Amino acid sequence: MQDETEDAIAELHAMLDRADSIVSFTGAGISTESGVPDFRSPGSPWMVNKPIPFEAFVQSREARIEAWRRKFAMDDHYRDARPNIGHRALARLVAQQRSPAIVTQNIDGLHQASGVPEEQVIELHGNGTYATCLTCGWRHELAAIRPAFEATGEPPACVMCAGPVKSATISFGQAMPQQQMMRAQALALECDLFLVVGSSLVVYPAATLPIIARRQGARLVILNREPTDLDPIADLVIRAESGVALARLAE
Ligand SMILES: [Zn+2]
Repeated sequence: MQDETEDAIAELHAMLDRADSIVSFTGAGISTESGVPDFRSPGSPWMVNKPIPFEAFVQSREARIEAWRRKFAMDDHYRDARPNIGHRALARLVAQQRSPAIVTQNIDGLHQASGVPEEQVIELHGNGTYATCLTCGWRHELAAIRPAFEATGEPPACVMCAGPVKSATISFGQAMPQQQMMRAQALALECDLFLVVGSSLVVYPAATLPIIARRQGARLVILNREPTDLDPIADLVIRAESGVALARLAE
């Protein structure tokens, strides 16, 4: 590892030690180390299993069938994914009550799997590990949906109201979850350290959160393998794997 990166990691840990209220904001980069494919990387299985836009899903039975086929194809790519050092390090901050919550763009449920209580994970893009009815909101488990879908080829319908059932993710064209966005904004306004982990910060409005935090005087740290547009306003930028940079916390 380059000295420069080592110095930056040492500085990160000094900043974490000094901070009282740390909000972590995570993206695909933290989970690629667990084997979850990144939507944007070349050759990603997402390219052949592109998510179906929300409008098409709502309007067309064929689109719903195709959406579920692709959903289960993608699930096969990461069903064995387990939390990695990066997830465990951030979970530790929550367990030590130094971090009120983790805000994530990920839909893989790995923060919860690393031991963070569900109410302390704010999911801006939903969750792909279960499904909900678009009409009544009833939760449906994939373990029940998948065998029925594979046996009949029919898109799942709600057991309560017969409405269309969709993976609990936020699709392209679907409204952002208002309550989660408001909670994330409130956290950005209250924290004294905002830690971006594995996000390229290109998806808005989520990427406005680091700006909100920085403006109210929080320190901003960006830990990502690639440069981001917000690097110039960060107090510290670390170009490293999240597991490497956060390892000391997870020990
Ligand atoms: Zn329903």
